Amino acid sequence: MNIAETLKFAIDLVAVLLLALGIKGLSKVRSAREANLLAAFAMALAVVGLIVNYLGTSGIAAEAWIWIIFGTVVGGCLGAITAQRVPMTSMPETVALFNGCGGMSSLLVAFGVAIFPTAAGAGEAGSAVVEDISIVVSVFVGSITFSGSIVAMAKLQGWLSTPPWMQSRVRHAVNIALAVMSLVAAIELGRRGDNVSALWLLVIGSGLLGIGVTLPIGGADMPVVISLLNSYSGVAAAAAGFVVGSQLLIVAGAMVGAAGLILTQVMCNGMNRSLVSVLFGGALGASAASGGGGEYKNITSCSAEECALTLEAAERVVIVPGYGLAVAQAQHTLREVTRALEAAGIEVTYAIHPVAGRMPGHMNVLLAEADVPYEQLKEMDVINPEFPATDVVLVLGANDVVNPQAKTDTSSPLYGMPVLDVQEARTVFVVKRGMSAGYSGIKNDLFELANTSMVFGDAKKVLGDLLVELKELGVGKKG
Ligand code: NDP
Repeated sequence: MNIAETLKFAIDLVAVLLLALGIKGLSKVRSAREANLLAAFAMALAVVGLIVNYLGTSGIAAEAWIWIIFGTVVGGCLGAITAQRVPMTSMPETVALFNGCGGMSSLLVAFGVAIFPTAAGAGEAGSAVVEDISIVVSVFVGSITFSGSIVAMAKLQGWLSTPPWMQSRVRHAVNIALAVMSLVAAIELGRRGDNVSALWLLVIGSGLLGIGVTLPIGGADMPVVISLLNSYSGVAAAAAGFVVGSQLLIVAGAMVGAAGLILTQVMCNGMNRSLVSVLFGGALGASAASGGGGEYKNITSCSAEECALTLEAAERVVIVPGYGLAVAQAQHTLREVTRALEAAGIEVTYAIHPVAGRMPGHMNVLLAEADVPYEQLKEMDVINPEFPATDVVLVLGANDVVNPQAKTDTSSPLYGMPVLDVQEARTVFVVKRGMSAGYSGIKNDLFELANTSMVFGDAKKVLGDLLVELKELGVGKKG
């Protein structure tokens, strides 16, 4: 090992440690911002390490410098502009796009080494088999990740919808054919690493497979798929790490792969769905589109004024945000309401269900945007025992995540899904536009309970009315 290689090894080691610390910090809302910067710094360090290594060993040609600078400036500017401009509600699309870029980079790295074997890392005795397998894995997974992520992004943006034939069983036959085609190409490429036709066949077969698997998946299941594709991008990067002999890429890719897989599992558990039913089309996702909600008989509804009167008398209020709050973009109005309540000495906390909304952390992001302090956000396991001691629960555009059927009705499709026990509170107000079902498409027993009152209307409008009523009652002026 010469000095440049030793230096690169040391830099890589520091970068890996910083990256691991960054990923750890992302698990807490409070430290997530700094953790993200730390991980970005680790990546920048890794690039420096790579340049140092090349400078000290083979050197960097003037032409290569142009590409390095061009790539850094263009990529950096695009990333910075996207990060500045993208609204929080478009985060899933952005994550999908970035996953796709990750998959494409791994694919290009492996593709480049397959075509120009001496370009990087090749030549060590005994490493040829590992390198060939890594190229196959990196190209296969990278290509699926790229095409799948682009389809996911386009579907979430509303640019693409599922063609009818894709909802039929024909798609399984097509996907199996594409998988077989990719497998044949992979075996051929494994046997003869310089087989360019097999390489192209693998790129095209797996790229089409990525489209074929992602296109039929329903919009509401898309976040699960995005998290799975995120995991794939990690796997592709780890394989690319083997291809070019980069320990850093192997470790970073493995961490991303594992983190994405864990998140996918957490989301599936939170939605009470198996990954297989998400990937191959389950009844639950389809039922949402049907909008069937069952018959309601004993519904009590009230006005914003009555709701404000009960809130005024409360000591402890819990807010339950859901998908409808995000749709209504009512987070800022909500914050004004809770500021008024807090100013009147009422304790306000927010109950955050792991899959409330349509993407992981949807509610955290939404509330952070409205400057809700992190300390007031309570996770389901923490808040559930506190509901019996709560005076008022305000459910805002949430439905499935507060459905008691998940605990009481073994025949319910929601049975087993962890839910917020809001019915344990003294009074529950549910703000929604009508009696339509939530994502699961089923009736919600909470709406018929004696301590529940519906406040019908768009979440932003109702919260606006509530704010007016609270002001008229003088709530928030008491100091
Ligand atoms: P739900 O989808 O269960 O319910 C949302 C409710 O919001 C609807 O009943 C709707 O009723 C109401 N609503 C819609 N628009 C408005 C509006 N403008 N103002 C007021 N209310 C409105 O949402 P939850 O958050 O309770 O549950 C999330 C669901 O999504 C779960 O089933 C979860 O499994 C699933 N999911 C979550 C993912 C995640 O990662 N977070 C990923 C994929 C799925 P109405 O039309 O009558 O107003």
